[in-house]
Amino acid sequence: MTMKIGFIGLGNMGAPMATNLARAGHDVTGFDMAEVAVEGVTMAPSAAEAAKGAAVVITMLPNGAILRKVADQVIPVMNKGAVLLDCSTVDVTSARDVAAQAQAADLLALDAPVSGGVGGATAGTLTFMVGGDSAGFDIARPLFDIMGQKAVHCGPSGNGQAAKICNNMILGVTMIATCEAFALADKLGLDRQAMFDVVSTSSGYSWSMNAYCPAPGVGPKSPADNDYKPGFAADLMLKDLRLSQQAAEAADADTPMGRAACDLYARFVEQEDGAGRDFSAMLPRFERRGRG
Ligand code: NAD
Repeated sequence: MTMKIGFIGLGNMGAPMATNLARAGHDVTGFDMAEVAVEGVTMAPSAAEAAKGAAVVITMLPNGAILRKVADQVIPVMNKGAVLLDCSTVDVTSARDVAAQAQAADLLALDAPVSGGVGGATAGTLTFMVGGDSAGFDIARPLFDIMGQKAVHCGPSGNGQAAKICNNMILGVTMIATCEAFALADKLGLDRQAMFDVVSTSSGYSWSMNAYCPAPGVGPKSPADNDYKPGFAADLMLKDLRLSQQAAEAADADTPMGRAACDLYARFVEQEDGAGRDFSAMLPRFERRGRG
């Protein structure tokens, strides 16, 4: 069934997601602050114009403050019963506040951040972590099926964002551990291929080691084999680690490893050469360093 969809935020992720929806036959009207042209998408002059009359309004925006601003613009013009589907990665509090604002206007609201990056957005193989009520999830499910390969309903509003930042906190921590272990192995004279062969089949295995190995020429192809061009940029990892620390503080959760990972990525991105590089470029950073 063709659905009328508003799509706001047509950047690196939003543009290919919107194109996949249009290619599947949906009627997609889009808006972005920047002047962009996106295959299959009719551009509107404002977020409100893109949202008017849509059964589902999708947002794919940089952060919670911008999401709140866009929500203020679109919620008043949306039809009752329509779904506001935010796929951005934002703080849990903004996700819950925007959902409450939408529900107060008789809309259904979902927070559905994604994993899979620009490659997954283009190929339509994203994973969606979804918070919000089941009625909204059922309406959005055919869209998740087009844009992704998996959608997990994680519970009420905000739980999608909670799943995303917990997952990415594990990812940041394991990537650092994998990189520092490779650098230690180098100094101990252990061959990198031997290190990979052992760890990837022993109890130190992880996605960071097995699927996204930070050492060039070892394991499956990864950004390490492309001079650490992202992939998943260290800047975006830092954003997600900051969100997890913000959430930990708000919920009074003790996350010392997450905090250490956040501090290290902040130093890497803001004081060293990490900005614009893949998050696995922590390995050359550790290679260059001693304990001092
Ligand atoms: P992006 O910066 O490429 O796109 C964001 C878009 O939003 C831009 O085109 C910008 O012009 C637009 N925008 C900003 N303010 C706006 C407003 N007020 N109204 C309308 N449009 C506005 O970012 P991206 O890489 O597409 O990421 C989008 C979201 O997805 C972020 O929350 C990011 O954390 C998350 N995410 C990104 C990746 C990735 O690999 N890039 C992976 C997973 C999740």
